[in-house]
Amino acid sequence: MDISLDLTGRDVLVVGSDTVSRRVVARYRGAGAAVTLLAPGDACARMGQVVVGNSAPAPDLIVWVDGQDGLRSVLTDLATQQRIWLISEQGAPELPRGHVSLVGGGPGDTDLMTVAGRRALGEADVVLYDRLAPREVLALWAPGAELIDVGKTPGHHSVPQAQIEKLIVDHALRGSRVVRLKGGDPFVFGRGGEEVLACRRARVPVTVIPGVTSAISVPAAAGIPVTHRDVSRAFTVISGHTPFSEDELAHLVGLGGTIVVLMGVNTLPHLVAGLSRHGIAPDMPLAIIERGYSLDQRTTVTSVHDVTGLLGTIKPRSPAVIVIGEVVRVSAWEDMGMVGHDHLATTVADLAT
Ligand code: SAH
Repeated sequence: MDISLDLTGRDVLVVGSDTVSRRVVARYRGAGAAVTLLAPGDACARMGQVVVGNSAPAPDLIVWVDGQDGLRSVLTDLATQQRIWLISEQGAPELPRGHVSLVGGGPGDTDLMTVAGRRALGEADVVLYDRLAPREVLALWAPGAELIDVGKTPGHHSVPQAQIEKLIVDHALRGSRVVRLKGGDPFVFGRGGEEVLACRRARVPVTVIPGVTSAISVPAAAGIPVTHRDVSRAFTVISGHTPFSEDELAHLVGLGGTIVVLMGVNTLPHLVAGLSRHGIAPDMPLAIIERGYSLDQRTTVTSVHDVTGLLGTIKPRSPAVIVIGEVVRVSAWEDMGMVGHDHLATTVADLAT
């Protein structure tokens, strides 16, 4: 039976122990109920007072989580006499000690989250999530968990890394199951390694659940394979965050495979100038894929030579993945100078007018 109740402001009596009932309590509070948590014996005593009309207010709903069967039948009888609904809810497992799962949330499409990641969310007491993590589904997938946004605070400053690590460790040491949810894969420019080390230093058990990285999946969303037989047999994923040395640029060009750039929108002119200094072909195709997997995903296909002049027109914004390499030609974007939402392309010249 599936019954919907509006619990806003309702007096709900949850019956069970602190630890086992913790997620049920959080879930009912999240639904707006005024929750009282009582051990089974205390709940029977309170309902006894209700029955004898002894000033104790009657709850609107009783939620049984755990306790002896005998006490449950006493409580059921008392609730029936008072015509108060009593339902059962599954408690959370007892927590011998805290645990952290570092979960890769994929590139933003909720279908691209792993089964293991979803399972970890379902068992979580606390979820610390990032800006690019699939946040819309958290209330559904992590029912009863405390959700903490560490990606952005109202002043748009992200929580410092040291503080994130402290939050993760502190929650785990208090016995919680912590999920640290990140966009893409936790170990690709995600500072996941640092968080694992912080857990190890604090002797907190930690598991890493990989995710679908944007470095490969976002190009795929635009139809661009990062490798292709006879076209590219290597791909290098780089961060545009800090500039590359001349040596590194020379190696990148020398390798001749696909270059995938994350966090590279703002430094793109600098990067292409560097690659050009080291002899990359001016007509080497370059694709910018913004907001991969969102409804307003946009792909711009141009060349190393033309991209800088184009930026003022298309004004690309983060998050975006940039692909530099012949593989761009393999995609459905056969002609250069195309801008599109998914595969509905218009020419860059159209956009400018
Ligand atoms: N760990 C992540 C990357 C974190 S760095 C991963 O494996 O995907 C953040 C960068 O990832 C962004 O600046 C952008 O370059 C890229 N990115 C992540 N999600 C994206 C998306 N949906 N569309 C385009 N770029 C994305």
